[in-house]
Amino acid sequence: MRMKISQINIYQHELNVTGNAYEMSHSSINSFTSIITEVVTDNGMKGFGETCSVGPVYQQEHALGAVAALSELAPHLIGENPLLIESVNRKMNQTLYGHLYAKSTIDVALWDICGKFYNCRVCDLLGGAINEKVPSYYAIGPATPADTAEIAMDKIGHGYRRLQLKVGGRHVDQDIESCHRVAENITRDIKLVADANRGWTTQDTIRFSRACCDIPLVIEQPCNTFEEIESLKGKIYHPVFMDESALDLNAVLRCINAGAADGFGFKLNRMGGLSAMRTIRDICRSRNLPHTCDDSWGGDIIAAACVHVGATVEPHLLEGVWIADSYHDHHYDEVNPVQVKNGFVDVPENPGLGVIPDVSIFGHPVFSV
Ligand SMILES: [Mg+2]
Repeated sequence: MRMKISQINIYQHELNVTGNAYEMSHSSINSFTSIITEVVTDNGMKGFGETCSVGPVYQQEHALGAVAALSELAPHLIGENPLLIESVNRKMNQTLYGHLYAKSTIDVALWDICGKFYNCRVCDLLGGAINEKVPSYYAIGPATPADTAEIAMDKIGHGYRRLQLKVGGRHVDQDIESCHRVAENITRDIKLVADANRGWTTQDTIRFSRACCDIPLVIEQPCNTFEEIESLKGKIYHPVFMDESALDLNAVLRCINAGAADGFGFKLNRMGGLSAMRTIRDICRSRNLPHTCDDSWGGDIIAAACVHVGATVEPHLLEGVWIADSYHDHHYDEVNPVQVKNGFVDVPENPGLGVIPDVSIFGHPVFSV
């Protein structure tokens, strides 16, 4: 069927953090700016995508950068067939170099439209859900050892089977102490991750790994650069996952070929959307590399996209699908919210992404074409 993209609306929406600020080694944030893309077709169908960077210093992505990139791209996409996702991605790459996190919102919106058009879920278009619920995990911000251990036990009580301790941004001995306190209390079936979000030196990482050598855990993105992390090979006791260094598909291949990554924390928007994540999923399967299917932050739209692709990952390779729902105060779709229940997220049931956002809460578009 010949269908055309007739309109693209870009919204800007604030997501406030409930309770304490969201903390990582380099930042402490109380409110996130989410950019939402609405693609409308000439027969009245709508698809949605979303990108929400974790402030301006987490990585190269920037909320207003997404608006600028989408303003550049959108006029070139009017009249394109939304069912031909690869074709539209090609058009975007011919129009603007880079800015995958902005292009991904269009990509995800097109998968949403395709699902609605073919009356099937995005996970079905991606090959089919292996499970109808995916495991999530909880990220615990830097805190005292006693508080970290208490939060860890509380989250295990709420059903989480994987805990990510945010480390870095303070003396590494405090991270070591927190990690030991948590490990003393949990059983070995709970997966433990120490995520420095680029905040350690190689020296810190070696010191941490040696001091925690008897604790089975994964170290995630300890240092800023690929080269620093690659240099840790043979010097530490723990598997290393890449997150912020996995900037795109080429960077993922580089990490794999160098043997520098034992797994990944993926951010769907950073990779370029669902199309890119499908490729990355298949590459990781061919090398038996475990990974997450996350995004850095955001509401129900991006959460649904992560859950759909996560549901299609071999369960023994799916580390989890982190979503921000427990950290913010409202859903875009109060009827079909994407949320963690007992440590898991149900795969949405409705066609497409399965989320129907109430766009009235986004206000007027900041850009329309
Ligand atoms: Mg991470």
